[in-house]
Amino acid sequence: MTEESTKTYCYRHPETETALRCNRCGNYICPKCARRTPTGYRCPDCIREQQKVFDTARWYDPITGFFTAAILAGIAGALFNLVGGFGFGFFLFFIIFAAGAGAGTVIAEAVRTVVGKRRSKILFTAATAGVVFGGLIANLHILLVVLFTGNLGSLLGLLWPGIFIFLAASATYVRLSGIQLGR
Ligand SMILES: [Zn+2]
Ligand SMILES: [Zn+2]
Repeated sequence: MTEESTKTYCYRHPETETALRCNRCGNYICPKCARRTPTGYRCPDCIREQQKVFDTARWYDPITGFFTAAILAGIAGALFNLVGGFGFGFFLFFIIFAAGAGAGTVIAEAVRTVVGKRRSKILFTAATAGVVFGGLIANLHILLVVLFTGNLGSLLGLLWPGIFIFLAASATYVRLSGIQLGR
């Protein structure tokens, strides 16, 4: 039998026989060690290496990202309310969609520039939260009315701004994280 000499073992578990290999470094890995990725099986070391490239943000990036997004979303929200004051009529729906996606794209690009194009999931989440926060601040007058009068009906005033904020926040997240998925 020549098979004896061709036996291969997991590089982390020398007693475990395996024919599976990491498709990045070529090391033999047992099924217990193998991590499934969209491109095939990887060893834990390669996964960790990948994560490092993926996570380039400094500790303060989520904070800067949050405030950049919050300030811009506040401005966008205020502009939205200003224009909304004149009434959108029939086109309201389309304008909100276009404006929300547009604002999200602009905010995402601004955040990317401010943090020096560094990336991390926490940063994306912080920037998205910043959009929601800034958007709510822009509608603080409505929130205050509800808070002080207890008139929940006033919350209806948040309907369109709310949809706008939601769209802008989703667009921000997709734009920020989508760029990196393509790499
Ligand atoms: Zn590997
Ligand atoms: Zn193993």
